[in-house]
Amino acid sequence: MKYYSLNGKASEVNFRNALIKGLAEDKGLYFPKSIQKLPEEFIENIHSFTEQEIAFTIIKQFIGDEIPDSVLKQIIEETLNFDFPFVDIEENIKTLELFHGPTMAFKDVGARFMARCLGYFNKDNNQEVTVLVATSGDTGGAVASGFLGVKNVKVVILYPSQKVSEVQEKQLTTLCKNIYALEVEGTFDDCQAMVKKAFLDDSITSIKQLTSANSINIARWLPQIFYFFFAFKALKGNNKKVVFSVPSGNFGNICAGLMAKKLGLPIHQFIASTNANDIIPKFIQTGDYHPLPSVQTISNAMDVGDPSNFIRIQKIYNNDFDALKKDLLSYSFTDDETRRAMLHLYKNCNYISDPHGAVGYLGLKKYEIHNDTIGIFLETAHPVKFLDVVEPIINKSIEYPEQIQSVMTETKVATFIHSYDELKSFLLNN
Ligand SMILES: *Cc1c(COP(=O)(O)O)cnc(C)c1O
Repeated sequence: MKYYSLNGKASEVNFRNALIKGLAEDKGLYFPKSIQKLPEEFIENIHSFTEQEIAFTIIKQFIGDEIPDSVLKQIIEETLNFDFPFVDIEENIKTLELFHGPTMAFKDVGARFMARCLGYFNKDNNQEVTVLVATSGDTGGAVASGFLGVKNVKVVILYPSQKVSEVQEKQLTTLCKNIYALEVEGTFDDCQAMVKKAFLDDSITSIKQLTSANSINIARWLPQIFYFFFAFKALKGNNKKVVFSVPSGNFGNICAGLMAKKLGLPIHQFIASTNANDIIPKFIQTGDYHPLPSVQTISNAMDVGDPSNFIRIQKIYNNDFDALKKDLLSYSFTDDETRRAMLHLYKNCNYISDPHGAVGYLGLKKYEIHNDTIGIFLETAHPVKFLDVVEPIINKSIEYPEQIQSVMTETKVATFIHSYDELKSFLLNN
């Protein structure tokens, strides 16, 4: 499969190079050159396929012959070694829990898939690749865990000091081996700015091969299509219309859902639910796209003021605003509404949600799910990852699941940096 840059000024690349480059030279996001609908029989008979078979059928066209089928199947098997269960919330409302992976956030799916593809492409390459990534929390943990032990790959993660949760910090800083954590004095935006600068710095890139693993990488984006199909399979025999509400920040997850629809999955409606960062809800309302600096909220993995993946969504609809508006609604919710939703879910539905999932739930409530419809909100992280937000709201302490318990007793290892020059010397000397 060939990929082209959505900025239109860079040459086409194959899957391997789109993965390794992350972003095209003209700073555009890569997009597949063609998208083939899946056969109707496949979707009608989806219940007769295993999750692994479904994933293989979906992803195959986006990779072509660049990874042998047997290897690709193995990569899928290893990526999907956890469940995606439904939990009933209210009549006609369910949540699809995407957090049963090793770092308990949905980003595990994309990170594990990308890491294994890179490991395959890199197996005969003796030059080490450095994956450089900035994180506000969940990305770093998922990337660290996904890339742990991958041959010839070194991972350097920048995170803002004292601005990630305790669980998130442990997940970033305790794995060691080929994973290096840099604790940055500053904000997430400072981390991101340093990473961007490094990618453009010839004095680094002439010596080190740098790759990004952020959510715009096609190898992180595309595998997120899988679980929309899994959900459809699990609804077996249900003739109701299906509505997904996706808590959205950089809009990669919902963009994968819209791709699932483009591949033929009969989803009636998508709702992009956001926090106070309401660029897309405003866009859907007015047609005007106005990026803004992000504002801080309690669902901080969605604090994005200029969602990177939105341009891909527009491409899926060939920039036809009216067609897009039919499939995609978008609503914004305040922190107070989110807190009330979390308390309601706990008291009335016996469900502890994290703040991001609660925003997703609010999207369904605003849409109003009638009896001919089934509403599904994605629960994108386990509540334990946002303990300091969740516990005071429900007034109850949450137990650490096994995955988290083991990491909490490990010792943090991080290098404190204050400036770009310190990042640069770290990259050149390690
Ligand atoms: C990253 C993240 C999101 C936002 O996903 P996008 O694909 O960027 O829209 C939502 N919830 C959680 C918990 C996340 O970590």
